[in-house]
Amino acid sequence: MFIGELSMIPASKTKAAASSLKEKTDLYLGALTYHGQICGEGVVGWTGAALRVTTYLPTSTSLLAKHHSKAGRQAWDDLCQACQSHPRWQVMGDRSEKRTTDWRRARSLYVSTDWFDPGPPILAGTTGQPIPAYLLPLSDSEIQDVNGWAGFYRLHDKMWTCAEDRRLETQTYKLLADPNSELSSWGRAACRTIEERTGLPTYYHLFRHWGRRDAKREARRTCPGCNGRWHRRPTAKYGIDSFEFVCRRCRLISSLADFDDERLAHIGEYRG
Ligand SMILES: [Zn+2]
Repeated sequence: MFIGELSMIPASKTKAAASSLKEKTDLYLGALTYHGQICGEGVVGWTGAALRVTTYLPTSTSLLAKHHSKAGRQAWDDLCQACQSHPRWQVMGDRSEKRTTDWRRARSLYVSTDWFDPGPPILAGTTGQPIPAYLLPLSDSEIQDVNGWAGFYRLHDKMWTCAEDRRLETQTYKLLADPNSELSSWGRAACRTIEERTGLPTYYHLFRHWGRRDAKREARRTCPGCNGRWHRRPTAKYGIDSFEFVCRRCRLISSLADFDDERLAHIGEYRG
C-alpha cells in the first residue's frame, strides 16, 4: 500500500474560497474512492493556510490521469480552479513494489473484502493479488458498482463485529453469509458483470463464521446455491485454491467456519 499527500492553497484568502476548496476536495476524493484509486478513510485538514490530504493508494500509479473516471477528471479540474496554483500529489511507498497482476494473465478472479481490508476487492484467482477495478475493461458505473458494494460490505462487517445486541449481530451476519441476501446478491451480480467483461470466471467469497459442531458435518455441507458437493482440500496458500469450498457452477468460494454454533450454522447453508 502507498500513501498519497496533497497540499493546496485556496485561490484567495476569503472564507468563501477556503470553503469552496474544501467542498471541491471532498467531491474529488469521493470520485477517487468510487473509482478505487484511493483506499480507506483519508485525512483532510487545514494546517495554516493549506488544506492537506493524506490517503492510502492501492498502487503507486493509481492517481495517473489515465486511470480517472469522467467524474474524477471533472472533479480534478474543478479542484484546480479553486487552488492558487496547480496542486501535485506526492506519492510515498516502497519502490520495490511488486507489479500489479495483469488481469489478462489471470485465469480467474474473485471478489472479497472485509472491515480491515481497505484495498481493491477484486483479486487474481491464482495469486490472490488485488487488481484495482480501473485496470479492468469495466465502465465507470460498473467500477463504481463493485467499489460501492465493497464499501457497504465493510460497513456491515464492522457492524457485525461490533454488535453488542444478539439480534443485530444475527441480522448483519445473514447479510454477509447468506448467498441470497441483498448484499450477497449485489456482490454476485458485480461478479457476473466482471466475468462478462473479462471472460474470466469470477467467484464471490461467501463468509462463514458459525458452523456445525461436528467437523465432518461442517465439511460435508453442500453448496448453498445448487446443493452440490463443493468441499475439497485446499491445494494452495493463496487465491481460490486456498479455500475449502468452491462451486464452479454457482461461482462461490467459502471457508470452514471459525466457531461452532448449532443455532446459527444454518445461515448460509442450502435451504432447498
Ligand atoms: Zn453450487
